[in-house]
Order: sequence, then C-alpha cells, then structure tokens
Amino acid sequence: GNQPKVEANILVLGAEKVGKSALTVRFLTRRFIGEYGDIESIYTHSVRIGDRDVCFSIWDSVCPQASELQGWVSEKQLRWADGFILVYSICDRSSFQLARQQLLRIRQLKRRGGVEKAPVILVGNKRDLQHRRAVSSEEGRLLALSTNSGFFEISAAETYHGALVVFHELLDMVRDSRSSG
Ligand code: GDP
Ligand code: MG
Repeated sequence: GNQPKVEANILVLGAEKVGKSALTVRFLTRRFIGEYGDIESIYTHSVRIGDRDVCFSIWDSVCPQASELQGWVSEKQLRWADGFILVYSICDRSSFQLARQQLLRIRQLKRRGGVEKAPVILVGNKRDLQHRRAVSSEEGRLLALSTNSGFFEISAAETYHGALVVFHELLDMVRDSRSSG
C-alpha cells in the first residue's frame, strides 16, 4: 500500500553519551542494548494514537566534538524539526549546561523565524544512577518551566515507559502547536 505521510519530524539533541540513542532505540524497539556507536540515524516510525496512525521521523543526532560548537544546533536541523527532545544525563553537569544552551538557541532561532512555540521536551536521563547525581530534579524542572518546555526524568536503561511517555507527549505538543496556529 501507500506509505503514510510523515506528519512530524522529531530531533533528538544533547551532549555525547547522555543516552540519545538509548532513548530512541528504547522507544522504537522497547529494548535496551547497552552500546550504540556514534552513528547518526533518521528513523521513520508510526504509532497508533486513538483511532489513527501517526507517522513520524526521528533524527538521532551526534553531538559535534569541537568546543566552539557547544550549543550548536544547525540551521538544517532547526528547519527540519517540528519538535525537539533535549537529553542530558543527571550525572553530568556539563551535559545539562549544553542542553540549556541548545534550548535557548532553539527558542531564539525559531522565534526569529516567527515560530513562538516550538515544542521541546527536556529529558534528564540515567535516573537509575542516583548515587552519581550531579543535577537535581528541581534544576531540570525550573529550566523547563522557564523555557516553556516539557520535562521528564527517565532511565532509558531501566524502563520502556519513560521513553514512551516522552515521545507521545512531544507528538501531542506538535499537534497542539499546529491546531493553535
Ligand atoms: P548518545 O551518545 O547520547 O547517543 O548516548 P548512548 O545512547 O550511546 O549511551 C551512552 C552510554 O550511556 C551507553 O554506554 C549506554 O549504555 C549508557 N546509558 C544510556 N542510557 C542510560 C541510562 O538510562 N542509565 C544508565 N546507567 N546508562 C545509560
Ligand atoms: Mg548516539
């Protein structure tokens, strides 16, 4: 049959090793495989929400290494994406700072392009590593609140549920942002 039309492009961003691929693969396959390599991939996937199939693409990005590119989100990525998942590790403060920079850049550039409400979800991953926590839940929640973003702390290693909720919530936000013009 005909391929369903892709209705949303979701970009997964964040520092290296925070679990961008683990979150993406967990959502797509329900599994955690531990090691993912540094390959950039775009997946197409559909989910049934209510009585319809929603088809969307997920771009699992690779963070550029050079320090001058910290916080960089390319024009191409920004133009492509309808919604953003910004991942940091609760054990890695610098990854939280990078997520903040990327979040502000998305807001700034989308606003310049006339988009007031680009849907963003901030994700604190590796919640299973409580003993190594370096970013409090409160800090994550406040950053999300001050930038009009969604917020979840999850463990891609431990559960499927967190990944599921993150993607479904973002798809809802993309749909709402369209219906409100
Ligand atoms: P990416 O570079 O952001 O795509 O990160 P990866 O998905 O490749 O994950 C980097 C490392 O962190 C891998 O060794 C994963 O097994 C590990 N990892 C990812 N998510 C979690 C998590 O929720 N908890 C723990 N403990 N480790 C995780
Ligand atoms: Mg990766």
